[in-house]
Amino acid sequence: MRISETNEIISALPQRERNALLPHLETVSLRESTVLNLAGERIDHVYFPTASLISSMIQMQCGTIVPIAITGREGMLGVDLVLGAKKATSTATVAISGDCLRITVEAFGDQFERHPALRVFLFRYVSYIRAQLERTSACNLMHSPETRVCRWLLLISDRLCPQNPPFSAAAVGLLAGIAEPELAPVLQRLESEGIISPENSESIRIGDRDALRTAACGCYDRRAEPFVLPRAQW
Ligand SMILES: [Zn+2]
Repeated sequence: MRISETNEIISALPQRERNALLPHLETVSLRESTVLNLAGERIDHVYFPTASLISSMIQMQCGTIVPIAITGREGMLGVDLVLGAKKATSTATVAISGDCLRITVEAFGDQFERHPALRVFLFRYVSYIRAQLERTSACNLMHSPETRVCRWLLLISDRLCPQNPPFSAAAVGLLAGIAEPELAPVLQRLESEGIISPENSESIRIGDRDALRTAACGCYDRRAEPFVLPRAQW
């Protein structure tokens, strides 16, 4: 598999811009719980996951950690830089181990300045991220834990690759921001209905994706959650 095909943003870039970035990308293996960015601290790299999942979180004044977004092979960690910021607005942690492409801030900034088409493309990605955040904010206020868990199971599986091992219930709770007392009964019900098939307490496989989509809230919609970004018209 070509490196450009393993992350949806890299593979969707126009060829000229993709070729400009490729020499600067390195593959790294990210381990679960590794902190990639700290809120308020300088950003060192832009990350393009290929088989890992990153959780972006903010810490409330009371100390509670609240997840706000997930990034997998559909996206990139580094939208702050696209918008001109040098420091991270949230803390980013590896939620699911796996491979990732990364580029230094310096190399990314250089290519960002050189290629107007890259800037336009990434601005569109920022718009996509904003739409995600808006949708999740409304979802958290309006929809039940049951339907939200189903949505998050779909979002997580969309953002991983077939080679990833099953993910854990703990990862779902971390990424979705749903505490174990609320999460456990929902997972038990989904298992009893054959929608998911836990192999053990540490791994969840989706057994019936159509049923999961039916059980999820309407916030999971391929039209509202474009997994593959539309190719830009330059
Ligand atoms: Zn919802």
